Amino acid sequence: MSVSTRVGFGIDAHAFAPGDHVMLGGVRVPHEHAVRAHSDGDVVIHALCDALLGAAGLGDIGLHFPDTDPQWRGAPGSALLERVTAMLTARGFEPVNVDVTIIAERPRIGPFREAMRHRLAELLGLAPEAVNLKATTTEQLGAIGRGEGIAAHAVVLVDSLARDA
Ligand code: MG
Repeated sequence: MSVSTRVGFGIDAHAFAPGDHVMLGGVRVPHEHAVRAHSDGDVVIHALCDALLGAAGLGDIGLHFPDTDPQWRGAPGSALLERVTAMLTARGFEPVNVDVTIIAERPRIGPFREAMRHRLAELLGLAPEAVNLKATTTEQLGAIGRGEGIAAHAVVLVDSLARDA
């Protein structure tokens, strides 16, 4: 057995729609909009799932949770992340650390940052110190800058407990 380290990257974005909260990193964040989405539209978790799947060479979130499948209608991000984490574990991968950037003019992320960090750490089986969350605006540039939606980028490192050939 040898350990190799692999990197993965993911992006997600959702447009805002009428509503009173958004789900971010598995945490309910009050907001003057919701997001338009087939599932709960948690851009943090969706970007993270894509990053994890990417690191493991397992495709992307659309492959495993197609939006044509009623099973995933309204699915909480936490359920997707648990499923993805289990897929990685079954293949001998374990996350080392994750780094996420949320891009939005609003809502403000600061008050919810620690709650998200702890929730994601719990879902990933990591220490909170191995989960980093950042937030930025686009200085009012583009669609996100006009407050039309929210996006997230995620990078993860995973260890692969691969058998030597
Ligand atoms: Mg999404």
